[in-house]
Amino acid sequence: MTERCPRCGLLFEREEGQWVGAMIVNFAVAMVALVSGLAAGLLLTWPDVPWTTVTVVAVVMVVAVPTVLYPWSKTVWVAIDLLMHRSERSLEWFGEDGPRGSDAALR
Ligand SMILES: [Zn+2]
Repeated sequence: MTERCPRCGLLFEREEGQWVGAMIVNFAVAMVALVSGLAAGLLLTWPDVPWTTVTVVAVVMVVAVPTVLYPWSKTVWVAIDLLMHRSERSLEWFGEDGPRGSDAALR
């Protein structure tokens, strides 16, 4: 992920621990995908569930889903963070050139 938004200059990582929220988003999506995948696998093959295949697929999902979705979860977290701190936006969040685009009004 780039340091700043190429459009408005917003600094994405404004404080230490900024990406904990992204990890929570990532974990939640991965768990929903895992539980959904397991439920679908069990429902489609019941009562002769191929447990070895189900286990291998689950392990692959637990590793692959969070890895693939991590950049996306950062983007989602930036959006959530901006919504939560909308009224606290300040010039310090932007580069030396100041905010651009719709945030230029902060100048
Ligand atoms: Zn932007």
